[in-house]
Amino acid sequence: MSILIVGSLAFDDIETPFGSSLNTLGGSSTYIALSASYFTDKIQIVGVVGSDFEKVHFELLHSRQIDTRGVQKIEDGKTFRWSGRYHYDMNTRDTLDTRLNVFADFDPVVPAEYRNAEYICLGNIDPELQLKVLGQISKPKLVILDTMNFWIESKQEELKKTLQHVNIFILNDSEARLLSGDPNLVKSARIIREMGPKTLIIKKGEHGALLFNDNGIFAAPAFPLESIYDPTGAGDTFAGGFIGHLSRCETITDTEMRRAVLYGSAMASFCVEKFGTEKIAALDLLEIEDRYQSFRELSRIEE
Ligand code: AMP
Repeated sequence: MSILIVGSLAFDDIETPFGSSLNTLGGSSTYIALSASYFTDKIQIVGVVGSDFEKVHFELLHSRQIDTRGVQKIEDGKTFRWSGRYHYDMNTRDTLDTRLNVFADFDPVVPAEYRNAEYICLGNIDPELQLKVLGQISKPKLVILDTMNFWIESKQEELKKTLQHVNIFILNDSEARLLSGDPNLVKSARIIREMGPKTLIIKKGEHGALLFNDNGIFAAPAFPLESIYDPTGAGDTFAGGFIGHLSRCETITDTEMRRAVLYGSAMASFCVEKFGTEKIAALDLLEIEDRYQSFRELSRIEE
């Protein structure tokens, strides 16, 4: 089943207590697409880049069979840029700078051959652009949306409008508190689900993720790792693994949704082990399956 992704393609400057990485390929759709590419070879990206986005960057995406015909290249503009700094515990980060660049005037056009996509992943980007993309899809089967504090603060009304068309909403704990106005995550989940999405996933960094739907709450741990170098993109990588698994299911049941949370968590655990996209661009299916099984073992008790 094909997955259409819209989100940022970016260059990031990242500082963590363990090192830094400048001008590195990032962006929400880059991470989502790379991660989902281990589950299906039908991935399409809609986005925009500037003249500084070179052949090697496209080649990296193509090496994972990602279709970039929906990515516009603006020759007299620069690619989106983001810079962030992580603190000692790696769970909190400060955004130092966000430059929309070519995204500021982006008018997304979904190529005709993408309009029948069934799985739509609206990655972190301006909620108005997310809605514009969704409006061009004929009959989506499942719509997943991810966002970030930047948009909750600057475009909350637009975000709430977009959320009315979303089945599954993914955000992190501090963003859930910010959007709901309530410090308690269970109450936040209730408030946010009333905004539209029936299913909500709240990511909690090194404390795992919570899935809220009509069946109740499912909690997944984060994989205990000794070395974490760079959490950038972990949330998007989670979303990619999550939608990737769902896209290969005949029917989306609650059990498959729970499995998808574990696959998302497994993919995110790889992402943080190296800087940028380095690790998730070069995985193999066996190690993904191995980590998924280790996840299942993490909270299993022999009765
Ligand atoms: P994550 O760590 O999963 O939140 O994703 C980080 C990625 O999101 C980085 O590669 C950034 O380039 C990208 N990003 C950061 N801020 C924004 C924003 N306001 N809109 C879209 N993408 C962003």
